[in-house]
Amino acid sequence: LTGTYEDDNIFAKILRGEIPAVKVYEDDVALAFMDLFPQAEGHTLVIPKVPARNFLEFPGDYLGSYMQKVQKVAKAVTAATSPDGVVVMQFNGAPAGQTVFHLHFHIIPRKEGESMKG
Ligand code: 5GP
Repeated sequence: LTGTYEDDNIFAKILRGEIPAVKVYEDDVALAFMDLFPQAEGHTLVIPKVPARNFLEFPGDYLGSYMQKVQKVAKAVTAATSPDGVVVMQFNGAPAGQTVFHLHFHIIPRKEGESMKG
């Protein structure tokens, strides 16, 4: 779970504007954009601007401001999609399901009766 942050990961490229993303929120702390392969309508990712491979390696001093933005985006996605539930989740390490090694929280709106795909 420890390792060197690689700045050629896809989310680092999105942060630098090198590849496009459908951005829904951005400030000096965080960027939120639509997941390219959504598990449900409105599936959004929230990444910190501070580089870190995962939650365990993320500097604690920045955690409060980043999590405030995760909640802000979760509220905005909820307001926009009127779901019956919302998944807020993140994975650490490939065996846990992580595929992009820049910390990100998933915000996934869920409707009653909809199966969990992810
Ligand atoms: P992880 O499995 O690492 O927690 O999630 C990575 C997420 O990034 C996946 O949900 C995947 O669909 C999404 N993703 C992968 N490549 C891209 C991309 O190029 N653009 C966007 N917007 N999302 C991506």
